[in-house]
This record gives sequence, structure tokens and C-alpha cells, in this order.
Amino acid sequence: MDAIDKLTEIFKGFPGIGPRQAKRFVYFLLTRNKTYITEFTTLVEELQKEIKICPECFQYFTRNKLTTPLCDICQSKNRNESSLMIVARDIDLENIEKSHCFDGKYFVLGGTVPILDKNPENRIHLKELLALIERRSNIIKEIILGFSLNPESEYTAQFVTEALVPLISKYNLKVSHLGRGLSTGTELEYSDADTIKNALKNRD
Ligand SMILES: [Zn+2]
Repeated sequence: MDAIDKLTEIFKGFPGIGPRQAKRFVYFLLTRNKTYITEFTTLVEELQKEIKICPECFQYFTRNKLTTPLCDICQSKNRNESSLMIVARDIDLENIEKSHCFDGKYFVLGGTVPILDKNPENRIHLKELLALIERRSNIIKEIILGFSLNPESEYTAQFVTEALVPLISKYNLKVSHLGRGLSTGTELEYSDADTIKNALKNRD
């Protein structure tokens, strides 16, 4: 295996990237100059150094040495703490934030659960989610499942809801689904602000 093959293998592991695209990325990098490559490799290295995961909501964020270990949203005093939106990935959170129509807090699961998966709880931050709700049980009133409308996301929403049942009844939490305000096949990650706004308004 030479360097081309090795890097192709790495790109093949990226979400949604097939072997041909992976190889195209490698040949593209071969045509770049030294400055480009240095910047590229430095940025990849910096990801690990500068980007941290928030211990509260589990989103990735740039950690500023002067602030607390929490992300901006978790630290903010201007967010509605009674409303917690659970999303699959950072990119969903980012897109919902861009729409400026949700002022609550978030929790990032870190992925979805594939249907028929044997150990689904190991794929997502489920334990951490349950612990957060338990910790904030006197503040949180509503849980919004902010998932896309496709089979795997719906399965994940169902899986999470089942895991939450004891807490939902113990603390009398309201649960709503953002996806029910979306049309089938809608990916949150690609939804525009109006679609998200409508989905929030029509959640149930
Ligand atoms: Zn956070």
C-alpha cells in the first residue's frame, strides 16, 4: 500500500464518500502547492487541540481559555432553559441556530442509531443525556426531539423516547417531535430557516 492508497482508505471512511471520490480527493491534493498542504495538515492537527466537546450538551466548540469549559449556548443566560432540544449531530444544531427560531438549550447525541443495531446505546451519548435531564429535572419542562424525517432518524427518536420514558413520567415532561412538522425525507441539516420555523411551530 503506497501513500495514495493509504490516504484513499482514510477518505473512504468519511461520511458519504465512495472509493472513486476518495481517490479524486487524493489526486486533488497531489496537485496543490506546499502552502496549501501545510495549511491543510495544520488545520487537521489543530482540530484536536482547539476544538473541545462541551461536557453539558456534547457539541463541539472552540474553547477559549478565559471562559468556562462549557460552550457559549450552555453558558448563556439568555436561553430558555426549560426547553431542551435533542439533535443527532452538530450540523443539525448549527442549522437550527442559523434559523434563529429556537431559544432553548440543546443536547447533541453524536449520531443516529442504525435500525437493527445490537448495541445502540454505545453509539450515542444516551447515558449523558439521561444524566443531564436528571440533573436539570427542576428546570426542564419540554423535550423536543429534533430529528430529520428519514427511517434511521425516526428510529433513533423512538429509541431515545423509550429510554426517556421513566424520566418523562417521573418529572412530568412534555415531549414533542420537530420531525412531525417536516415533510418526509427532510434532512434538518439542509433545511432552510422557514422550514425549521414551521417545523417548530407545528411540533407535537
Ligand atoms: Zn454546551
